[in-house]
Amino acid sequence: MTRRQTEAFILRTVDYGDYHVIAHLLGRQTGRFSAIAHGARSSKRRFSGSLEPLRVVEATLTSSRSGDLFRLEELDVVENFPGIDERIETLSAAGYATELTRETWREGEEAQQIFELLREFYRHLPRCPSSESIARLVHQFEFRLLDLYGLAPSIHHCGRCGATAESMDKLRFGRDGQGLICGPCRHGDDAVGIVTAATLSFLCHLDDPDRPLPGDDVDSALAQTGRVLANAIDQLTERPLASRDILRQML
Ligand SMILES: [Zn+2]
Repeated sequence: MTRRQTEAFILRTVDYGDYHVIAHLLGRQTGRFSAIAHGARSSKRRFSGSLEPLRVVEATLTSSRSGDLFRLEELDVVENFPGIDERIETLSAAGYATELTRETWREGEEAQQIFELLREFYRHLPRCPSSESIARLVHQFEFRLLDLYGLAPSIHHCGRCGATAESMDKLRFGRDGQGLICGPCRHGDDAVGIVTAATLSFLCHLDDPDRPLPGDDVDSALAQTGRVLANAIDQLTERPLASRDILRQML
């Protein structure tokens, strides 16, 4: 039986019978995996409160002889994110980022940068002073996650012919999540949504924080940005994320 250690996020836990818990984790080096924590339900002392989302843990694992389920031997909390659970808005945002990561990470995807993205998100979240700044941080997380998957919507030019955004008469975003489509490239059956220049500035700022935020129209830019990113994310998820609806209601 090989023993190994990895830094990981717990993405979800599910009770398994009366005694055990199955944890879904994102390892910094390994990506997503599942592990059974024997006795975690029957003895609370066994993992002493560390078997919960929203913390970085050092997990000691052994591999079972059959299947791909690891056995969780020990858990040590490496990093907490104090303050996230003090407001329902930040807790909802953290829940959404966790579910989004869990539902979109696929075998073979790079893990380390996604792990660090999630860590940075949790670190910044408690410092957001308002609902608007939480929404902005969530959109930044969504955009960067899509970018790491190579699926960020095209925002600087037409995704089909490369015509620049500046050359377009209207800023049309395909509802298939792939980004800008110029007038000549748009086919009759392409569903598109037209966004404002402020929204495009907002998206460019998410891509490169050195680009300025739009000065006005911020509320509608935030809402349109949310829709552009949701369209891209919907291509990745098999079902709507419950946590996204909850977060929308909160913000
Ligand atoms: Zn085009």
